[in-house]
Amino acid sequence: MKRLIIMGPPGAGKGTQAVRIAERFGIPAISTGDIFRSNIKDGTELGRQVEAILKSGGYVPDEMTNAIVQDRLGWVDAAPGFLLDGYPRTPGQVEFLDRVLAAHDHALDGVIELTVDEDAVVSRLLKRAETEGRADDTEKVIRERMAIYRKETAPIIALYDQQGVLVKIDGMGTVDEVTERVSKAIESMTG
Ligand code: ADP
Repeated sequence: MKRLIIMGPPGAGKGTQAVRIAERFGIPAISTGDIFRSNIKDGTELGRQVEAILKSGGYVPDEMTNAIVQDRLGWVDAAPGFLLDGYPRTPGQVEFLDRVLAAHDHALDGVIELTVDEDAVVSRLLKRAETEGRADDTEKVIRERMAIYRKETAPIIALYDQQGVLVKIDGMGTVDEVTERVSKAIESMTG
């Protein structure tokens, strides 16, 4: 059983790793951001409710986000496990997820935190902004986003550290190198 969470700062390539890891272990990569975006694109009721929130960069309320994740975890493809990406993001979501899993006598197997060298990531993102013509991605904006990530995830990372499920993985190097590191860590924690 592989019940996993992946966390990482902007620019760490978290989404890319999530998809690769999920494929390797035969579990779905579940990204709350992707779920919200596809609902907006399809014009669903949920999409209409969250569109303005995503545009403003704010958080979708816990009750809505939790309900969506609870539903998604009940799909048949998540029976062998799952890899959550972008959830949980608040202490309330951490608590909810624990309760949903406990109700089925389940628990998390591991929480992977990708760590990066901040200066290296800033220059990588600046280069990308230049080639893609994204003038709004200035160094100041990028560093601010990283500071927000650190501030918001610190309490969540601390909770999982207390639970003894947190594994820090060096997120620097090639995409393949990082995938290998994460896979090894998952194998050693889930057998
Ligand atoms: P990013 O990493 O750029 O924040 P995501 O794809 O993870 O992108 O999320 C996009 C948006 O979706 C967030 O800004 C937020 O509005 C919403 N969202 C995603 N996950 C959550 C969550 N766990 N709780 C609340 N809102 C969320």
